[in-house]
Amino acid sequence: MTTTLDEAPLSREAMEAFWLPFTANRQFKANPRIFTGARGMYYSTAEGRQVMDAMAGLWCVNAGHAAPRIADAIKRQAGALDYVSSFGMSHPLAFTLATRITAMAPQGIDHIFFVNSGSEAVDTALKIARAYHQARGDGRRTRLIGRAKGYHGMGFGGLSVAGIARHRRDFGPLLGDVDHLPHTHHPEHNAFSRGRPAWGAHLADELEALCQIHDASTIAAVIVEPVTGSGGVLPPPVGYLERLREICDRHGILLIFDEVITGFGRIGAPFAANAFGVTPDIITCAKGMTNGAVPMGGVLVHRRVHDAFMEGAPEAVELMHGYTYSAHPLACAAGLAALDTYQEEGLFARCADISPVWEAAAHALQGKPHVVDIRNIGLLAAIELAPRPGAAGERGAAVLRHCIDKDILIRAAGDTLVLSPPLIISDAEIERLFGTIAEALSGLN
Ligand code: PMP
Repeated sequence: MTTTLDEAPLSREAMEAFWLPFTANRQFKANPRIFTGARGMYYSTAEGRQVMDAMAGLWCVNAGHAAPRIADAIKRQAGALDYVSSFGMSHPLAFTLATRITAMAPQGIDHIFFVNSGSEAVDTALKIARAYHQARGDGRRTRLIGRAKGYHGMGFGGLSVAGIARHRRDFGPLLGDVDHLPHTHHPEHNAFSRGRPAWGAHLADELEALCQIHDASTIAAVIVEPVTGSGGVLPPPVGYLERLREICDRHGILLIFDEVITGFGRIGAPFAANAFGVTPDIITCAKGMTNGAVPMGGVLVHRRVHDAFMEGAPEAVELMHGYTYSAHPLACAAGLAALDTYQEEGLFARCADISPVWEAAAHALQGKPHVVDIRNIGLLAAIELAPRPGAAGERGAAVLRHCIDKDILIRAAGDTLVLSPPLIISDAEIERLFGTIAEALSGLN
């Protein structure tokens, strides 16, 4: 069996200089996987294979690859205005995009700070949270709280509040004064839940316990993904986010939702905050913001957070933070065209409409060999396999290989299979995807 999708047209030497992220480089260069094109649901290779992309790139290509409107907008913008300094000046598209995104967010969330990635969005959100308390004369509030299994990008801030041990291991001391809530997955209580599990809301009370240990008046913010993504697709237990919100309110703690994955339609609404009816103080987003076409992220803030910065002298910089490419014109053009595409094609509603089909197809794998849990929400799913004793990750890798041989790209996080297709996936493609996984499972030992 081969995992190679394509005979690379590149020689080994031509591949040497590029140090790939998140990748076993030596293994990759011996057996490269290279795509040369993409359109809609499919990547293509130089030899003409069409590979179904069941991960929407990396949870980002919500409207499918190479959406024509987005490609055109980027092209036009590159010839009209390629760049404007982000120091004391801007351009019209940035304002229009900010207005349109904030209009989709829950009531009260009415400003956005633009950045270039999810990692930057998270680090920015954590800095805004601390600076918010500082601006209100409450500078003792610096402690940050994340959650086990959380993923918040690879910056030092995001890594510090994240809860995936393998990511944190090699980088020395991270931010101090950080605690973690427990994750909400429990194989005995909530395996095979459909959508949000009924069990687990009480786990939010661990925040109350941290407030008792540390004194709530030292805590700046709590950050969670409303649906844990990279940690294995864990939808929040019913009532859990509401309880976090209540505890934060009681103690003056800011609540941050990291919606880098859930933003822009992934669970059938603009944001998970809309879908779950819980309004945080800050929302981070990226990925689907431009349909993955140009790097961009954003930090949405509630009016009361924004306004706390606007009380000093008008000539003073309110937040000494930003990036060379904040609100980049090409990214803004791509962002506006992505929103047009989502709207015209009704993709958020489509995601909501098709998610029962998705859920049924995913849960039809219950009872297949080695399947110990299946989780889903919107167009997200995870199928967890029991690890082979002494060979963790082997079963996940075998399913991945089988799917690739059948021209379907999924993701295996160890022995958990993760799926997040473009929101344009058809019923027939859903059937093919889960049928292929079922075949792979039947052949496992
Ligand atoms: N937060 C979450 C919830 C994410 O899923 C990701 C990326 N998978 C990030 C932050 C980091 O985004 P980026 O890779 O764009 O820095």
